[in-house]
Parts: sequence; structure tokens; C-alpha cells
Amino acid sequence: MKISLKFISEMAKNLFKKPATIEYPVKVDIPATPEYRGLHYVDDEKCIGCNLCARECPSNTIKMIPNPKKPGKKLAVVNYDACVFCYHCVLVCPVKAYITTNEYKLAVLNRDELIKA
Ligand code: SF4
Ligand code: SF4
Repeated sequence: MKISLKFISEMAKNLFKKPATIEYPVKVDIPATPEYRGLHYVDDEKCIGCNLCARECPSNTIKMIPNPKKPGKKLAVVNYDACVFCYHCVLVCPVKAYITTNEYKLAVLNRDELIKA
């Protein structure tokens, strides 16, 4: 194999440069911008169980379960396995029950962990 001088000089230059890659997520974290549409939770104190968000969700990924804080009332629960983060649920909620975050790390070992109450 013929090694050119240009190749050797490039190699020597890059030997002392900082790596272009970063060790995410082990050593370096990359937070999302504050406005990023991330995980969103329903405040069980605020939710009135109207079912509007579940009806409007384009992915049909919101289920209504009994609200542990309000006997006889329902509570909306998001399954992030199918969520497309359109935030339609957040916008349609009449009592602004959704707590929004910019959290985007969703990797889990068990899919059931993607159902957050
Ligand atoms: S963000 Fe969109 S897809 Fe996700 S739960 Fe809300 S309405 Fe459904
Ligand atoms: S739209 Fe709001 S109040 Fe109605 S079920 Fe969904 S989270 Fe609860």
C-alpha cells in the first residue's frame, strides 16, 4: 500500500485534535431546548376525566383509567410507545391538566414502562 505525504500530514494533524464525537450519554449530556415537546404528564388533581384528550389524540395512545385521587372520576394516561409528541392533548385540555417537559430520553427495557400515569 502506498501512503502519500498528504495522508501522513493529515494523520499527524488529527492525532492532536479533540475528537469530533462526544460520549453521549455516558460522559456528556445534551439537554433539549426548553421549548422541545417532551414527556408530558397529567396532573391527577386537575384532570376532570372529560376524555377530550383521549378522543383527539391522533395516535390513540391516551387511555382513561380510574383516578386514584378522585373516586368515581377518570384520569388520562399517556402510553409513549405510540405518542408522536404533537401536543394536541396539551392544547385541547380544558383545564390545562398537562404538565409539559422537554425530557426526550425514552429508552426502556420493558415497553410497559412507557405508560406513565
Ligand atoms: S402528544 Fe399527540 S400523540 Fe402524544 S399523547 Fe398527546 S395527542 Fe397523543
Ligand atoms: S382533556 Fe384534560 S381534563 Fe380532559 S381527560 Fe384529558 S387531561 Fe383530563
